[in-house]
Amino acid sequence: TATMPDTAGATPVMAQYLEIKAANADSLLFFRMGDFYELFFDDAAIAAQVLGIALTKRGKHQGQDIPMAGVPVHAADDYLQRLIAAGNKVAVCEQIEDPAEAKKRGSKAVVKRDVVRLVTPGTLTEDTLLPPRASNWLVSLAPDAGGQTIGMAWLDLSTGTFRLSAMETDRIEAELARLAPAETLYPDTIDPDGPLQDALHRLGGALSPQPGAVFHGGQAGEKVARAFGVASADAFGELSRCELRAASALIGYVERTQKQAFASLQAPQRERSGGTMAIDEATRASLDLVRSRSGENATTLLSAIDACVTSAGTRRLADQLSAPLTDLGIISDRHDAIAWLADDPAIRADIRTSLRGAPDISRALSRVMLGRAGPRDLVAMGAALDQAGMVHDLLGEELPSLAAEARKALAERPNALAGRLVDELSDSPPLLARDGGFVAEGIDPDLDAARSLRDDARKVIAGLQSTYSAQTQAKSLKIKHNGVLGYFIEVPTLQAGPLQDQAETFFHRQTMANAMRFSTKELAELEAKIASAGARAVALEVARFEALCEAVKDNRLAIQGVADALSTLDVAAGLAETAVRENHVRPQMRDDQSFAIEAGRHPVVEKVMKQDGKERFVANDCALDDGAVHLVTGPNMGGKSTFLRQNALIAVLAQAGAFVPATSATIGIVDALFSRVGAADDLARGRSTFMVEMVETAAILHQASPRSLVILDEIGRGTATYDGLSIAWACVEHLHDQSQCRALFATHYHELTVLAERLDRVDNRTLKVKEWEGDVIFLHEVVPGAADRSYGLQVAKLAGLPSPVIARARAVLDHLETRQDSGERASSDDGLFEGLPLFSAAKPVAASTEPTPEQIEAAAHAKLSALFEGHDPDQMTPRQALDFVYDLAKQL
Ligand code: ADP
Repeated sequence: TATMPDTAGATPVMAQYLEIKAANADSLLFFRMGDFYELFFDDAAIAAQVLGIALTKRGKHQGQDIPMAGVPVHAADDYLQRLIAAGNKVAVCEQIEDPAEAKKRGSKAVVKRDVVRLVTPGTLTEDTLLPPRASNWLVSLAPDAGGQTIGMAWLDLSTGTFRLSAMETDRIEAELARLAPAETLYPDTIDPDGPLQDALHRLGGALSPQPGAVFHGGQAGEKVARAFGVASADAFGELSRCELRAASALIGYVERTQKQAFASLQAPQRERSGGTMAIDEATRASLDLVRSRSGENATTLLSAIDACVTSAGTRRLADQLSAPLTDLGIISDRHDAIAWLADDPAIRADIRTSLRGAPDISRALSRVMLGRAGPRDLVAMGAALDQAGMVHDLLGEELPSLAAEARKALAERPNALAGRLVDELSDSPPLLARDGGFVAEGIDPDLDAARSLRDDARKVIAGLQSTYSAQTQAKSLKIKHNGVLGYFIEVPTLQAGPLQDQAETFFHRQTMANAMRFSTKELAELEAKIASAGARAVALEVARFEALCEAVKDNRLAIQGVADALSTLDVAAGLAETAVRENHVRPQMRDDQSFAIEAGRHPVVEKVMKQDGKERFVANDCALDDGAVHLVTGPNMGGKSTFLRQNALIAVLAQAGAFVPATSATIGIVDALFSRVGAADDLARGRSTFMVEMVETAAILHQASPRSLVILDEIGRGTATYDGLSIAWACVEHLHDQSQCRALFATHYHELTVLAERLDRVDNRTLKVKEWEGDVIFLHEVVPGAADRSYGLQVAKLAGLPSPVIARARAVLDHLETRQDSGERASSDDGLFEGLPLFSAAKPVAASTEPTPEQIEAAAHAKLSALFEGHDPDQMTPRQALDFVYDLAKQL
């Protein structure tokens, strides 16, 4: 952190700055001075670097220049966003009194300032600062004293969603991976070498360690109860102490950063540990559920199936895909809703049409609750509530339970409020309430009167221009307005004579290069009238705005209910749309170890292939009932990884409450999903591919239960052949005997396939290929059996390896295979390579010079003499000579 200059000898403003900065040492301080937020000292250097703005200086402090950088207030959001994205926190310090007030205390008095808000990555609420289609989680972690359990509370301040859970410490990494927090709070007292610190450092997002005391709350229960306005935190179910501590620290942080009472949150929902499918970080990374490794969003599961028409819908769908459920009842409620909308195209289309373009009410509501809303938020809310009415009227009486709940919430929408918002506000309001001009006409007689007074005065002023022009013969006389002078009369200097002559009427204000400016008593009076009428109008508008905000706050539960209902319907209708468009079916969910997929497809690969318009995706079955382990062999590019992942994705989709890309699917609830596909080097953490792979595999073997689904792709590849084979072998045995989970295991080691004979639930599958004129054609079809060979050379040829290299490789391979068939061990040091025709095959590749004609002649001579060896033409009968010629011909 920055070293703080001391205040000795500082100017009054600088002393004020240093004092406020000292209280916010971990944040960049945006110090309001007029139309700019200024940053000083180290803050200025950071801002200049991140934002690419000029680093200047302002005055001196203790003999040194003070570095300074500034951003204009009107463009502050953009700069804020970039600073936050670069991992900074920003304290926004405003002038909290009118400079005129300060003047009254003396000419040297400093305007009062204070920090009105701390902007951190996890506490954003502005649309301009937030990703529209993703949640922005602020997470708080409170480990218990023994280190066994962790209480976790998480909040999206932009929508008010607040959740709680307690879990075993070793589950925390998976949970954090699911949420991808924008910012995480935790006690700064945790063990810096412990597993929690380790997990936190693997995460993206800002880390905000807090003093340990923040998490010790004797008062935690009371604090939570107070924040939500209930008598006791028991209202939210039986919360454990560590959950309460996490929640109370989170609430404390929000109070500190938002600088205001905490009235805006939805009642906390408690997530039962084990209520969702456990998916650890490595699995998420390998499956590209809602974020892709490449950072390209087009290739995620979310983007492949998302047909939502609102951002709130997409956010909800992303949350659902990140946290597939394990509760059969809730899953089937979601499936029921999709089935209803998939079967009824008319209602589906109507709902989607009505929802399209519905404003984001959750976020608007949250801004109202935090006192940070503008007129546009209220207009948007009015429009959305209106749309909610339309959607409600579309829904009949006979509905699946999710839709029935949504309908109920829509029926309870605050109609009177919606009416007021629509009637009282104009359609295109300004960003800020204090700009005025957003209350519709005819709503408030006082406001209308003030406005017409103001407008009449403006008209009179417009009329004055011709009066004055005629009176002074100054043809080019104009009445103008600017921020400094207000209204004034401007004439070219050459025409100014008559005005100067009538000095008792036209008093001089300013002399410009070619013009002079004057005012009159009349003009000044009209201006005062406009100003006071204008100020009165704005005051009335602001009062009305605040009254509307209060009304919104009073109705927040109903409004939140409407927002939830709309996003629920959007998700269901979107998934139904996708199901129909992409031929997805409803999966049959069971509470057992079933896993039977018929004609399953990979939703992302299929979609990409469809867009490219090339081949068709080949559907494949997968039957892993009762803890079967399938060993999948086949050439590279055969489709092994695709097949493995598609089955994992189908399980995720089914339990997220979506339909699945298959002709039928029966799935026993998966409690945990593990996937390891193509481990990549993790150089940042100083581990080799092999090490990463082994660490991750260890985690699976420790954690997988009979209800889990495990996908392993080429385990053991990163080491010597025999090591790798042995490890893979032992892993399969462990999965089969100990974990007894459903598993797909793709491997290069064909030797493994003999396990199918030894272990009863292990079976072989292979990807079918066809050979054609020495080339290999991938059929992408999964069939029982093991691959007979790896077709590595054909794949290498397809990849464009030079043909001499391929030819040479074939010779080596043939040789190795014969040696192996005759029972010899394949190893380089026991003479295996002795018989290889090393030079004969290498020569044509290496030969760079043509043989000379003499060499060719000599070679031909040698050959011919060899042929005639033992054949003296003089001794031959005609019959023998003919046979000899036939022999020669055969050798050609
Ligand atoms: P492997 O893991 O066996 O090396 P991949 O699963 O990476 O093979 O598949 C290689 C390519 O083959 C994919 O990029 C895809 O284009 C194509 N592919 C895989 N599976 C199928 C399928 N079922 N139908 C059509 N094309 C497929």
